[in-house]
Amino acid sequence: MRELLLVRYGEVHLKGQNRPYFLRTLVNAVRRAVREIGGNVWISDSRIFVSDAQNMDECIRRVTKVFGVHSVCPAIEMEKDDFDAVCAQAVQMMRPLSGTFKVNARRSDKRYPIDSPEINRRMGERVLEALPGLRVDVHSPDHVLSVEIRDKAYLYVCCIPAVNGMPLGTNGRACLLLSGGIDSPVAGFMIAKRGVEICCVHYHSFPYTSERAKEKVVELARILSEYCGKIRLYVVPFTQIQMEIHQKCPDHYTTLIMRRFMMRIAERVARMDGAQALITGESVGQVASQTMEALVCTDEVVGMPVFRPCIGFDKIEIVERAEQIGTYETSSLPYEDCCTIFTPRHPTTHPKPELIRKAEEALDVSALTDAALQGVECIEVGE
Ligand code: ATP
Ligand code: MG
Repeated sequence: MRELLLVRYGEVHLKGQNRPYFLRTLVNAVRRAVREIGGNVWISDSRIFVSDAQNMDECIRRVTKVFGVHSVCPAIEMEKDDFDAVCAQAVQMMRPLSGTFKVNARRSDKRYPIDSPEINRRMGERVLEALPGLRVDVHSPDHVLSVEIRDKAYLYVCCIPAVNGMPLGTNGRACLLLSGGIDSPVAGFMIAKRGVEICCVHYHSFPYTSERAKEKVVELARILSEYCGKIRLYVVPFTQIQMEIHQKCPDHYTTLIMRRFMMRIAERVARMDGAQALITGESVGQVASQTMEALVCTDEVVGMPVFRPCIGFDKIEIVERAEQIGTYETSSLPYEDCCTIFTPRHPTTHPKPELIRKAEEALDVSALTDAALQGVECIEVGE
């Protein structure tokens, strides 16, 4: 008999003929997640198991962050032949609990002599006899005592929800425009959750933005890397571009022109890093640069898809997500962002692309873009 972690997976189930590939990728991701703490990982008929991790809590923390995992259950594994002994163990596990319960048996080994309804009945009876403080409620029990009969018997009463999604690396690669704000880390998480590997680009306007502001973004990338594995963060010097825009373009267009530069540079970084799409944290109507017309103007300068998973979310909903994934606190640190310096008093909310293009003629767009890319610093974050 031993303790281990039984890992349940979600959507990967649905993958038809490609299922072995998705499963292999998922198992490898779980393996990577627990490698440092000595976990031993294997898959056996539709469950992933982790044994021998040095620290169970840390193991749970790590595996619940693996995309593709639906939930993790700390379980007891034991020989199944002696059903009495399995019941005795079930009683032990239920002893500290109070309220109502039901037994939920699953017999994958169809040669096992007791079928699932019978396991439910007999094990339920044994628990009730031994622990008269508990009651059965099959509709909405406080506790579900799960028993799975496979090559061995597995017992568990607690399942911790995990992130779900698709295994990382099964859906290509995209480049996240990562500011120090609340929205962009959430956006990156949401796309990564669908199995997309991410790299990040951050625009830094030293000395108008501080070293601390940059460190904050490195920390946000690090938090994301707990889900996404190692992340390359490209920090792009942006001061020159902002200064020139500020000096040479009409005040009310400066934000949009700046955003167009961000998109152009991000596309170049993305191609360099093998990414096929961009991700931003924009949400329609949130600020002047995120009205429909403004988004049209920013999209105009890129030749790859731009994913904006927060597009239909209210700020409150984005904050909720940020709290769930653990980025909110860091995002809320009050350091300046390059978007908040040189902000015009009256940014245009209904820009016309032809007027923006005209205003940009005052700048040498390609030279400025090239110069910024020359100064890129690549920081490897995570793992
Ligand atoms: P966030 O909360 O993520 O900063 P926001 O609501 O403040 O978003 P903006 O500042 O207009 O919105 O930025 C919109 C999007 O542009 C961000 O979500 C992010 O993807 C990108 N972005 C903004 N500033 C930067 C930056 N300094 N570096 C990289 N990307 C940025
Ligand atoms: Mg911002």
